[in-house]
Amino acid sequence: MSLAYGRPYLAIPGPSTMPDRVLQAMHRGAPNIYQGQLHEMVAGILPDLRAVAGTAGNVAIYIGNGHAVWEAANLNLFSRGDKAIVLVTGRFGLGWATAAAAVGVNVVSVDFGLRSPVTMDRVEEALRAHPDAKAVLVTHVDTATSVRNDVAAVRAVMDTVGHDALLAVDCIASMGCDEFRMDEWGADVAIAASQKGLMVPPGLGFIWFSEKAHERSLGNDLRTPHWDWTPRAKVGYFHDHFNGTAPTHHLYGLRESLNMIAEEGLEAVWKRHDTLARTVWAAFDAWSAGNPQIGLNIEDEAHRGRAVTAARLGAPHATRLREWTEGKAGVTLGIGLGMADPTDPAYHGFLRVAHMGHVNAHMTLGALAVMEAGMIALDIPHGPGALAAAAAVVAQGA
Ligand SMILES: *Cc1c(COP(=O)(O)O)cnc(C)c1O
Repeated sequence: MSLAYGRPYLAIPGPSTMPDRVLQAMHRGAPNIYQGQLHEMVAGILPDLRAVAGTAGNVAIYIGNGHAVWEAANLNLFSRGDKAIVLVTGRFGLGWATAAAAVGVNVVSVDFGLRSPVTMDRVEEALRAHPDAKAVLVTHVDTATSVRNDVAAVRAVMDTVGHDALLAVDCIASMGCDEFRMDEWGADVAIAASQKGLMVPPGLGFIWFSEKAHERSLGNDLRTPHWDWTPRAKVGYFHDHFNGTAPTHHLYGLRESLNMIAEEGLEAVWKRHDTLARTVWAAFDAWSAGNPQIGLNIEDEAHRGRAVTAARLGAPHATRLREWTEGKAGVTLGIGLGMADPTDPAYHGFLRVAHMGHVNAHMTLGALAVMEAGMIALDIPHGPGALAAAAAVVAQGA
């Protein structure tokens, strides 16, 4: 017997749930790419993208995923042999560092482990030890550990030290979910991808960059024509935006998702994610009472991402529960990424619950109730009262 037949819910941290409005906007024939409505639409998308990132700076759109914009950022930010300080707080920080090293950037990794945010004492130490670093790369919300880093504090340390490096931020998990203010917080570069908070299928990557970052990029010898951000952002001809054919249907979807964000209001979007995140945390707090094998990965609420929650359930219960919720109830939870090697039995103790993008109270409460049903069915020991606690957070936040 399965109760999964109905609308499935993919509660993983990307691709996130796509709104019907976005899908319907994409369902059309190919437009004229040479003139007319598509050109006007893209001209209107650019200021809305700037608003979502909180910047008056430049924005470049790439056909690609998050890995593509990691690489695009690296190629624009560095010449071969240039030094980067990469602040690593989980799998995704590691990924950006690896991508940079692979193209010949001299990477200094500062690793904070899997359960801690970036701490400013170690940032200061690294800045002082490497005055020649050209950029500091940091992940805003690391989707694997669900840690949220304080970007403004990193900028403040750079200013205190008087370090001249650029500050580049991976906002792939956080853009359109967690509060992010690029200009106010002093970030020079931010990157994102379409399939997370922006609610569009995978396939678009974005880089926002300041004028200062642009000027410094001009002589960098890693820049190649396709990844060069200059023609994409400072466009002469329409097709320069994309270095070729525009990703027409993704752009229709993006137009609609940006409309939805504007209708709700960006601050309300952040608040909704914050409340839904707290709903999930409240359930875990109750489940973990008297059950130390259950718990959230990040202790300090201020340093928890609002788009995804990484948790432990004790091996092999996380994998058993994920299989149960998908097979029996139509809810797919995220795997525990980067917390243990998949060949290690400990791997089966970790999972992630996404609350990213087009998600509302009934979806999050439903996912939590299904998780509790699975724990009962599978005899996974857990504390009582989780669903009432989760409902109370929704009642208070709504
Ligand atoms: C998803 C994600 C990436 C990788 O994006 P892909 O589209 O899978 O290449 C990188 N960084 C963060 C923080 C992410 O959440």
